This record gives sequence, C-alpha cells and structure tokens, in this order.
Amino acid sequence: MPALVNIDGELLAPAEARVSVFDRGFLYGDSVYEVVRTYAGRPFELGAHLARLAHSAGRIGLRLPWDDRRVAAEVARTLEASRGGDLPDPVAAPWNRGERTVRIVMTRGSGDLGLDPSLAAAPTAIVIVHPLAGPPERAYRDGVAVHVVGVPRAAPTAADPSAKTGLHLPHVLAVREARLHGAEEALLTDGAGQVTEGASSNLFAVRGGRVVTPSLGAGILEGVTRGVVLRLARAQGLRVEETGLAAADLGRVDELFITSTVREILPVTRLDGAPVGSGSVGPVTRLLLAAFRTLTARP
Ligand code: PLP
Repeated sequence: MPALVNIDGELLAPAEARVSVFDRGFLYGDSVYEVVRTYAGRPFELGAHLARLAHSAGRIGLRLPWDDRRVAAEVARTLEASRGGDLPDPVAAPWNRGERTVRIVMTRGSGDLGLDPSLAAAPTAIVIVHPLAGPPERAYRDGVAVHVVGVPRAAPTAADPSAKTGLHLPHVLAVREARLHGAEEALLTDGAGQVTEGASSNLFAVRGGRVVTPSLGAGILEGVTRGVVLRLARAQGLRVEETGLAAADLGRVDELFITSTVREILPVTRLDGAPVGSGSVGPVTRLLLAAFRTLTARP
C-alpha cells in the first residue's frame, strides 16, 4: 500500500482518511506543513524540516500536538507500513523509483465557525505518505520552462513568507497562470520588480560564474534544498551571493535552476518563452546536480 495516511496516530487507507469540515486547515488554511522526501527509503534532512515546522508554528501561534520525537516516530511508522506495492513508473528518474514523499500537516483543529483561533479545540496531526512523483528524467537533462507571473505573491495580510502554512491561494493562482503559458513553475515577484521564489521552489541564477539566489530578506521560504545547495556550491569552491535578483535582469543570466524537496535541483532552460543562456543545461548547474546526486546517494 504505497499511499497511506496517519491522522492523530491512526493509520488509514487514503479513501478512509477524513478530517472534519470544521477543521480550520480546511476552512481558513489555518495550518502548517512540511514536505519531506526519502532517499533509499529514509527521510532526507528530517531535522531541518522539523525545525522549519516549529518555526512556522511559532509564527502563527499554533501549538504543535507532537514533539519532534513523536513526529519522527510517526513518520517512520507510516513509511514502514507503506512499503512495497509500487506500480512501475516508466518516466520516473531512476533515483526516484520506490521513494516516498511525506507530507506532515498540523492544523489548528476544529471548532465553532469563526476566525478567532481560540475557537479551535485541539490541533490535528496528519502524515500523508505517497509515492514520490518527481520530475521525469528528461527534465533534468533538458531543463524546464518557467514564467514570471503577474499575480501578487500574497495578500498583504498573509502570514509571513518564512512560515510554510496552508494559505496557498496566491501560489495556486500563480501556478495556474504559469500553466497557461506552458511553464512548469511560476516565478513570483515582490511588487517592486525583484524576483522572490517559485510557487513551490527557490530560485538560483548563475551570472559570470557566480551562483546568485534571493536573500532570506527578500521575503522567501528558507528552502531546505536551498540550504543544501548553498553548502554544496561553497564546498565546490563556487562564489555564492544571496542578494536581490531583478526580474528585468533574469533574461541576461547564464543559467537558472529551481530547488525543492521533490524537484531537487531542476535546470531551467526557458524563461517566459525565451531560452536561458545557451538554452541548454549549463556547466554550473550540471556540477551542482552531480554533487547533489552524490550526496543523496548516501544520505
Ligand atoms: N518556496 C516555497 C514557497 C515552497 O512552497 C517550497 C517548497 O514547497 C520551497 C520554496 C522549497 O522548499 P524545500 O526545498 O524545503 O522543499
């Protein structure tokens, strides 16, 4: 049974896994979450994900129902119970076959209708284990297209971008717009012409041999993969800059790539319909991809 859900410690088949319509995660996006992936069946960078989950919960004043040890134990238990039974996926990248994503969701719970968080009785803890549906192998070879979207990154009242919360409508609309332009990922801007991140990824550019990515101050999620890539880039002796990236300058960079837990390092070879740099995956991206592959082959 590759897909399996754990709600408050109870293991359930996906069709049986239900939460109340009064759950505030459903009604208001009043929740925090993490997406972890496995390599060789084991969660990768779980500690960093748990630290970010605690940060996100702190930012919205949500009391996490499980401590880190309990989350790690429930993740391990759910993964173990989901072993075997994978259907063959011919387009999957070989290193993703048989692997899982683990979505950890903590909502503020159910209660009477109303925005007041004190209406919630008790938080709900959910772990969803699913076969990993990563990009096809050819996306790593040929790169993907991205589109800089026009929709604002988030409503001014949204929780801060460093918190990974269930409030996702701006990201949903951004991806909708990107898809209409035939792009795989939407790039978001801050309204002052600076690119911040993708709808569900961080953005890196290579300019004159330097690896450049928007700083945390740009209003982004501190991606776990972003952190791994920054470490790898420095270890490779590359010059790294966390700085502003103007949308208007993106067309002049040599290389672009996005990073996320599920997509790892994904080369970007088309931006708003035009080729990025040479139009094929560049040497710095290939160097980092190789280093990432080596790292994750022995997590
Ligand atoms: N930025 C946003 C808005 C995201 O939703 C995500 C992941 O879903 C990322 C960046 C990448 O983060 P990570 O590398 O931790 O998956």
